[in-house]
Order: sequence, then structure tokens, then C-alpha cells
Amino acid sequence: MKHARADVLARADRVLSDLSFGYVSEWLEAGEGRHAIGYLPMYVPREVIAAAGMLPVAIFGAGDALDIVKGDAYFQSYICHIPRSVIEMALDGRFDAFSGFLFPSICDVIRNLSGMWKMNFPRHYVKYLDFPQNFDPEVGGAFYRREIEEVMENLARLSGRRIAGADLHAAIVLYNQNRRLVERLYDARRDAPHDHPTSEVYRVARAGAVLSVDDHSRLVQDYLDAAAAEPLPEQDRIRVYLIGAFCEQPPMGLLRTLEQAGCDLVGDDLLLGLRYLRGDVRTDGDPVQALVDAYLTQATWSSAVYDGDRPKEDRMMEDVRASRADGVVFCCPSFCDPALLDRPMLQRRLEKEGVPFASFQYAENTGQFQVIREQAGTFSDSIKLWE
Ligand code: SF4
Repeated sequence: MKHARADVLARADRVLSDLSFGYVSEWLEAGEGRHAIGYLPMYVPREVIAAAGMLPVAIFGAGDALDIVKGDAYFQSYICHIPRSVIEMALDGRFDAFSGFLFPSICDVIRNLSGMWKMNFPRHYVKYLDFPQNFDPEVGGAFYRREIEEVMENLARLSGRRIAGADLHAAIVLYNQNRRLVERLYDARRDAPHDHPTSEVYRVARAGAVLSVDDHSRLVQDYLDAAAAEPLPEQDRIRVYLIGAFCEQPPMGLLRTLEQAGCDLVGDDLLLGLRYLRGDVRTDGDPVQALVDAYLTQATWSSAVYDGDRPKEDRMMEDVRASRADGVVFCCPSFCDPALLDRPMLQRRLEKEGVPFASFQYAENTGQFQVIREQAGTFSDSIKLWE
């Protein structure tokens, strides 16, 4: 059955605008003994949660849709916004239907949040998921395998049933299909950004934070079909690669502002945790080891990950070139230590390569975009006129 572009986007928006997680409640009610496990931004092996018969739900904060009343009391003023809105949502009871939370090791803010969660929400299963920064299979690989096995044991205790190898294998197959579709979505945007604008692609991709993997795969496929059937007019915009938005997400208004200012995003690190592994996870042999090996060898680059023997500047340049970007926009949350610490190093490399760039910061609840519109518009005009 064919779906119109607007209908597919409305399906995505219903999930994204619902801070009470109605989809999660419906999913839980649709079967006996079901559980939902939330996790903070960036990567967690969702396959493990799905193999336990549970729904993995990525929590990206409340954006600009929630006034922070209680959340500010938990944090000092000079850190990013996402932990405040996540705590606010939790204190409002919006996660009451969830059984547990994983806190991946992104930065100190998320580490502290996991401690607060343990104290404030003792009913939840809480695990700080420590990702190795050593990519030797005998060291980092062995450590990460123990982390995954611990999560599997804890989830099995929660559900009352052991996660069989066949369950994990089946989940890997489903997530591989989803990864391929999401890669097709981003490739389509890179090749025809006017037909697949970021203001649409982002919403379709982000719905995967909440939807089950098969519901999300259907949504992505429907969007790709609808976009092919309903082409949009070409635009006179520059091609931009956006860096720094891998954790706290910018408001939709900021992404629309970039487009209105003449910038088509053809590469970015938005929602990076949902696209963290590049390519399929192996489907032969031991499925736990397949997840470990994928993390060690197929993970993308990011400021939240040590780069081992593959410098981030090199990987950034590979991606910027592959996206055929005219320039780079560094766009990260205010006070985001990982992104801001890497920025000078990445900028130096762009200067050396003669790639133009611009920088600005945001908070997930930023409401005024005029300054960003002027900056991005000037950046776009300067590339169109002089590059
Ligand atoms: S936005 Fe940056 S500093 Fe804040 S939690 Fe995320 S990675 Fe950490």
C-alpha cells in the first residue's frame, strides 16, 4: 500500500511529540510480561534488549516541549540541558512504565545522572554501561563482552527467562535490516537532499528511538517510497556536513532554520547512537561475540569515543569528502565538553584542507534562531559567491 509523504511524517511526529510515551504503553499492553528499557543517547546494543523480549527506547530529552521546574535543582548551571529535562520527565512520572535504564559512558554528566537515578528511582534496574576505549579484542573486547553478558543476566532476571543465542541472532538480523534501511535513508539525502530534506529525514530516523525495530523499518521504507513518488523542487542551497550534535539534540526549529538559511545537510552526527555501527553485524557464529566485534571494528567516530589508532580528523575528512559537502558546520550543545574539546583539533584539520566551516551552539530548548539564521545564511552566501 502506498503512503503519502505527509502521512508518513505525521506517523513519525505522533511518536516524537508524545512525551508520555503512549507508544511504549501500548507496546507493553500488547503482550504478557513485557518490559521497556530506556537508555541515554549514543550507542547501546539494542539487539540484546530486543532479544530479551523488551523494547529499547532511546531517551533524547524533552527538547523545547517542557518547562524545567524541578530539573534545574539537580544540576549546576554550567552544564548542558539534556540531563535537566530527563530528570524533569522522570520526576513527572513519564518513565513510570519503564523497567530499567542503561546509561552508556558518554561523559561525566551521564555518569552522574546514572548515580542520581539509582538514588531517586530505586524501582528501576539501572546499569552504567562502560564502553571500552581500548580496541584490542583481548583487552577491550573481553571487557565489553563481560558488560554485555552482565546486561543479559540482569534482563533475564527481570523477565524471568534466559536470552537464548537464537533470540539474539534473530534480533541481530532485524537490526541489520533496519541499519540497511536507515543507511539508504541517509544515502538518499546525500544524493538528493532537496527530495529528502533533513527536516523530514531527521523525524523519520528519530522515530526509531521509540518504535520497535520492525515498526521503524516499515516507517523508513514508507518514507523512501513516498519521497520517490512525490519529488520536491530543487533548491539553491550549499551542501553542509554538521558535527557535534551526537547527544543532546537541537530543536527542530534549528534544523529548519539551517535549511531556510540555504544549507542542505548531506552528512551529520545527529542521533549518532542509532547509527553507530556501520554495516551489518555478523550473523554467523556466537552472536554475543558478533556484537563485540562490531563495536571494536565497525563503530563510527565521535567526540565521545577514544579514536585509538584511527585519528578522528582523518575519519572526519573521509566522511566530509564522501558526502561531497561544500563546508562544515560545528553545531553542538552549550557546555558539551566532549564536542567542544575536539572542535579546535577538527577545525585545524579543515583549515589545512581548505574546507570552510562555521560554528555555533544551542540548547535543546533554544527558541530564538535569528542569530543562527544570519550566521548560517552568511556562511551559505560566502560559499556560493566565493568558493
Ligand atoms: S550533551 Fe555533551 S556534555 Fe551533555 S550529556 Fe551529552 S555528551 Fe555529555
